[in-house]
Amino acid sequence: MFRKVRPSRIVTRRADELLCASANGLEWRIVDLQYLSDHLKCIKCKKDIFLRNTVEKSRMGLNCMLNIPCEECSTMIQVHTGKMHGTGDNKNRADVNTKAVLGAVHSGIGETALNKLLACLSVPPISANLYKRCEREIGPAIEAAAKDSCRKAAEDEKQLVIANNKLK
Ligand SMILES: [Zn+2]
Repeated sequence: MFRKVRPSRIVTRRADELLCASANGLEWRIVDLQYLSDHLKCIKCKKDIFLRNTVEKSRMGLNCMLNIPCEECSTMIQVHTGKMHGTGDNKNRADVNTKAVLGAVHSGIGETALNKLLACLSVPPISANLYKRCEREIGPAIEAAAKDSCRKAAEDEKQLVIANNKLK
């Protein structure tokens, strides 16, 4: 005789395994594949460089900087795992961090909930300071979008009143 296992128990056991895996030092990253593949090239000899040769990683929130030596000329190449932005030559803000915080604000969750979500994905967290910095960055854009939305709603309302009056 086989004992029937309820599907919910299977799901729970799988979830436990996944949480243990993240506690065991497994780390996932959010990577812009197009950007990364475009930048896996030596800036000196233009030959391809390889992720397997990565010697050092540093992290700023969800973005990572990889140090990869070129097999051909030994130049150490620094590659970000996604696009950066900023003013002028000072491109020190990672798109992925700004987008994650925008997503958190847009979906109505805060820093704690975002980091819980990332923890379940085994993705390292965004620090409180970095979260605040990104929030300040997206603030004006959200405000502008809200104003635009209000203006459009007011215009729609006006058109409806005009159309309604014409019918009378
Ligand atoms: Zn090279």
